[in-house]
Amino acid sequence: MESLEAELDRARDLSVPDLADAIESIGFECTRCGACCKGATTKEGDEEPHTATVFPDEVRHIQSKTGYDYRDVARPMPYGLTEGENGPEGETFEWALQTDACGDCTFYTEDDDGRGACTVHEDRPLICETYPFSVALGGTSQPMGEAVDEAGMVRAHECEGLGRDIDREHAEELAAALKERAVRELEEAIGVRDNYEPTETGPGEIVVHDSEGAKREDGTPLKRASRGDDAPDNR
Ligand code: SF4
Repeated sequence: MESLEAELDRARDLSVPDLADAIESIGFECTRCGACCKGATTKEGDEEPHTATVFPDEVRHIQSKTGYDYRDVARPMPYGLTEGENGPEGETFEWALQTDACGDCTFYTEDDDGRGACTVHEDRPLICETYPFSVALGGTSQPMGEAVDEAGMVRAHECEGLGRDIDREHAEELAAALKERAVRELEEAIGVRDNYEPTETGPGEIVVHDSEGAKREDGTPLKRASRGDDAPDNR
């Protein structure tokens, strides 16, 4: 398997015109159905809240635009957490966009005709800007399951807008954002790997390890004295 550094080099070498060609050949136009912003129902009939990865600096950017608290923008990615007596607990390695009571993204809204909209559209994370596409590189995220179509280095994931005509300008914008996302995802993955220190969590406690280190659920750094250190635990 390629190292994350090798995948990062490949991501930095991606050709935006080639990615745009691939996006044009697959085709895409957003129908504003909202499917990529809402919770989903699994094949087993379970309700699954929306999960979209957001980078820590993207959370802060949305905070600066909305005035929201960190926890109102993002939550610990639930994957890897276990269900304890006091709710989910353990360590996780990503942030997800916060969800509302229905399990939809907290920034999702619908007009009277049921057409979806994003209340932070201009400031939305790269994962949203580039949905339903991903690039075929290890260490990058493949949202919403398996690819349903692919061309060159571009994969397309489940979306009713696929196959529609896209103009060159939009395809190039999407391609540039897709390349940026692939680079950022790999930089983030390398940062998480390099900064990770196993952390014991107490009942009901969640620690998020991102590229900036270990954090509490509110995004603040978790600093704990090492064993044998005289410094107090300043959690
Ligand atoms: S931030 Fe906007 S585009 Fe992204 S999932 Fe939420 S509503 Fe959808």
